[in-house]
Amino acid sequence: MTQPATTQPGFFDRAIVRSMPMLPRGLVRRISAPYIAGSTLDTAMHAVQGLAAQGLGTTLDVLGEAITSRAEAEATRDAYLAAAAALGALEDSSPVAAGVIGAGVRNVSVKLTALGLGIDDQLVHDNVAAIARAMADIGGFVRIDMEDSPYTDATLELFRTLQAEGHDNLGIVVQAYLRRTAGDVAQLAAAGARVRVVKGIYVEPAELAFQDMREINANFLALSRTLAEAGCHVAFATHDDELIDGCRALVAELQVPTDKYEFQMLLGVREARRDELAAQGHPLRVYVPFGAQWYEYSVRRLRENPRVAGHVARETLAGWRRRVGGRRPARAGA
Ligand SMILES: Cc1cc2nc3c(=O)[nH]c(=O)nc-3n(C[C@H](O)[C@H](O)[C@H](O)COP(=O)(O)OP(=O)(O)OC[C@H]3O[C@@H](n4cnc5c(N)ncnc54)[C@H](O)[C@@H]3O)c2cc1C
Repeated sequence: MTQPATTQPGFFDRAIVRSMPMLPRGLVRRISAPYIAGSTLDTAMHAVQGLAAQGLGTTLDVLGEAITSRAEAEATRDAYLAAAAALGALEDSSPVAAGVIGAGVRNVSVKLTALGLGIDDQLVHDNVAAIARAMADIGGFVRIDMEDSPYTDATLELFRTLQAEGHDNLGIVVQAYLRRTAGDVAQLAAAGARVRVVKGIYVEPAELAFQDMREINANFLALSRTLAEAGCHVAFATHDDELIDGCRALVAELQVPTDKYEFQMLLGVREARRDELAAQGHPLRVYVPFGAQWYEYSVRRLRENPRVAGHVARETLAGWRRRVGGRRPARAGA
């Protein structure tokens, strides 16, 4: 599929988002199903085990909606503590990313706004610290996702604070579309941080973010190079062939060992490309979101970025066409 050269949504993407309120909840659930590991911890653990059996690592994400109270933030924290207990009880047989903290399955991703950022600085600090401790107890890892630009500084600051307090099982995310990220990455590289590189999913203004996909892709590869050259553990989180190929070339050129990098993809997205990368021996981790708030999450994420709605709709239509046609393309999701 040809990539649009800008981050602006096209007509098809906007039409999908406009029609969402008219779609029955059951249909939205069906559309979202490949991308969400159900509404309970049990369904999520089932997905984690299935992926581990295929030699894939995972990171669990508890879906949370815009939180407005301490009680909701604490409920999200408790859901992560329950996830840590369940992950601790799992035998981690995945060979993926051996030598990396948390290795294959003992890995969660958290969004700070779901844990109290924007409500109370101490609350979000304490909630993330509690999750980091619980994950450390099982030899696990916590990735702090990056949200939209009003939260960038606070997210980086909390990451640094927690590290300074001795939490050494944390990683952070940087967004290649933000103009500021090269500066942030220089600091993170100097500190030896574990960093996931993404394009960025939110709609950001041109003063803050590159709008041209070619600039975003060039920045993604430049940031990845800076981190890899500094010896940081770097996670390339993308489904874009150009970036995947660029990152493969980068790790080959720099001879980055497999305990110093991994590819990451979202559950249900470009599975054939994912499996191909894993079969080539690249560590591969799948982002596994789950939770009761799947509907709100799906609708919010799709509204936030209509391009994602377009991707999902195209992939769903392609899946239906494959089933009706009774044949599989060489590369699903391409
Ligand atoms: C593991 C992981 C963690 C992430 N964490 C963050 C984060 O913390 N903060 C943040 O801002 N962003 C995050 N993102 C999202 C990221 O910023 C991008 O928006 C997203 O990955 C799409 O960009 P892409 O590089 O895959 O390229 P694109 O050009 O957008 O996609 C390439 C192709 O992949 C397919 N595709 C991509 N996304 C989807 C989808 N959702 N559904 C169906 N098909 C799709 C399409 O076929 C598309 O043509 C994360 C992404 C991943 C994979």
